[in-house]
Amino acid sequence: MTDTAALLDRLLSIVGPKGILTAPEDKAAYLAEWRGRFKGNSPAVVRPATTEEVAKVVAACAEAGVPIVPQGGNTSLVGGSIPYEEGREIVLSLSRLNRIRSIDALNYTMTVDAGVVLRTAVDAAAEEDRLLPMSLGAEGTCQIGGLISTNAGGQTVLRYGNMRELVMGLEVVLPDGRVWDGLRSLRKNNTGYDLKQLFMGAEGTLGIITGAVLKLFPRPRQSETAFVAVPSPTAAIALLARLREASGDQVTRFEILERRILEFALRHVPGSIDPLQEPAPWYVLTELTAGTRSDGFRDMLETALGEAVEAELVLDATLAASETQAGQLWFLREAIVESQGFEGGSIKNDVSVPVSKVAEFLERANAAVEAACPGIRPTAFGHVGDGNIHYNLSQPVGMDKAAYLDRWDEICHVVNEVVLDLGGSISAEHGIGRFKKDEMPHIKSAVELDLMRMVKATLDPKGIMNPGKVLP
Ligand code: FAD
Repeated sequence: MTDTAALLDRLLSIVGPKGILTAPEDKAAYLAEWRGRFKGNSPAVVRPATTEEVAKVVAACAEAGVPIVPQGGNTSLVGGSIPYEEGREIVLSLSRLNRIRSIDALNYTMTVDAGVVLRTAVDAAAEEDRLLPMSLGAEGTCQIGGLISTNAGGQTVLRYGNMRELVMGLEVVLPDGRVWDGLRSLRKNNTGYDLKQLFMGAEGTLGIITGAVLKLFPRPRQSETAFVAVPSPTAAIALLARLREASGDQVTRFEILERRILEFALRHVPGSIDPLQEPAPWYVLTELTAGTRSDGFRDMLETALGEAVEAELVLDATLAASETQAGQLWFLREAIVESQGFEGGSIKNDVSVPVSKVAEFLERANAAVEAACPGIRPTAFGHVGDGNIHYNLSQPVGMDKAAYLDRWDEICHVVNEVVLDLGGSISAEHGIGRFKKDEMPHIKSAVELDLMRMVKATLDPKGIMNPGKVLP
């Protein structure tokens, strides 16, 4: 029997026949990322159903010296959850580890398995009249463990923070198979190093998250959505500051989109409707939420927008009159993402800069990419309240799509130079994975990279946990 066959036998004895997939057709969905950009091979996909099983699987792989790729919903876009082509790594899927362990409504916390899908967790919290404030396009598929491992953001970071800020405790299977039970639900606990921080945003390179205690909040009782035409990104940022002041910091979402990408959606995505009569160069889609119901809340928003019109920060605006209308406005936010695929090649950049520098970034990046590729069509949108721009670039009209996409790295490099010059980040949300790991020496100092390598070597001396990801 080969070493691999012996290991697979041992894994089968740990997880049972339901917990291991070896047939190519069963493994296929776990070996490719949904956009098809990253593909890999693996002798088996293992699907343990308990923390104990995860620990035994990891111990067995560690003993055999076989590397592991942890996988959640497989929705991240940088190849971190996909094994390499050589086919040495075992894929460890958390999808059967999917129980809501408990909800403590008075402590405003919930404890969940890492494989719980985000929407399931949000719904379970809502049943107890609590809010789990995390919302993103992949919420029907991505898992709590994946969200924590990528420190995901989404649309409500402005008000509630990234995933990191929503985690109070973690349970982690370490690379040698030991279990660290850090499932604490304390708001105050100053007893030494905050170990959970190491595993958040680590993209599965330091251990496997099997459970988490998450922070909950009171559910908002009133929500107002506005679609606002603005003359420029500078005006959008000034409007954000005004709304934060006027509302007592109750702006929950604040998204920007430029006219070009709205036109893409109107052209290609059925159900998209221009909410305003006159075209404008830029738009803001914003939601403000309040803990209690009052007419005054909507009045406050109307007054703030009226004053912004007088200050020439706003050209026009519409407030949703009902939940259905609000839903239609937020549908546009999803439609613009889908619409880019209909306009040929689209080179994606997920970057962030300080909020006060967003306008400067857009101006400089637009000039730089136009110089590099005349006729390129920037379609910026994103969570501008966090300084996070999805700075996507559609190909020049008429250009060959393959020839355009061949220039992906070169054009991203042009954008990244502007980002770094403004003190920004070349990966605001999606992490590093396989996709951006070669950029690490350009974006981290030698000292920072050295510290990262020391942490990796200490926790994972055999280098079996998601090798070849994040660190170059
Ligand atoms: P995977 O893709 O399965 O894994 C991501 C990484 O985490 C991999 O490196 C994997 O090895 C590791 N990992 C997964 N589970 C574990 C675990 N239990 N323990 C240790 N390591 C683990 N992201 C945002 O931040 N904001 C957005 O607004 C946003 N919008 C999106 C919209 C769409 C339509 C899509 C497809 C993606 C979007 N994303 C967004 C990216 C993605 O949804 C998030 O990164 C999400 O957190 C990934 O979760 P996942 O369960 O799919 O993880």
